[in-house]
Amino acid sequence: MSEDPTIFEQIAAGDIPARIVHETETIVAFLDANPLAPGHTLVIPRDAYTKLGDLPDDVATELWATVQSLTPTIETAVDADATTIGVNNGSAAGQEVPHVHIHIIPRFDDDGGGPIHATAG
Ligand code: C5P
Repeated sequence: MSEDPTIFEQIAAGDIPARIVHETETIVAFLDANPLAPGHTLVIPRDAYTKLGDLPDDVATELWATVQSLTPTIETAVDADATTIGVNNGSAAGQEVPHVHIHIIPRFDDDGGGPIHATAG
């Protein structure tokens, strides 16, 4: 890569601390530093891809499988009633970090309902 590593690439490499909840050779999941709800988790590919369409099929498959398997675990951990799962896919959509990340945002019956626009910050 010729460009500077993104902050998420640095987290995946262990160069910047994060509260990692799951990792494989391909995928890392960690708690969002500015959570929209308790347990707000980001799931990322370890390697640097900017948008979903950039992902090789095998990475996309493992990324989504990780979201699917982690979601009920997170819901249980924070006693959530539901989950919002979202991707800001490109800067015009509010993507602040140019490294693919899927938000897993626990939701609660009393949190006001409606969609969360996952553009924290
Ligand atoms: O989808 P978007 O790019 O807007 O989301 C970026 C997310 O990355 C934010 O929720 C922000 O809190 C999170 N973040 C983080 N740790 C950092 C920098 C950003 O968890 N060091």
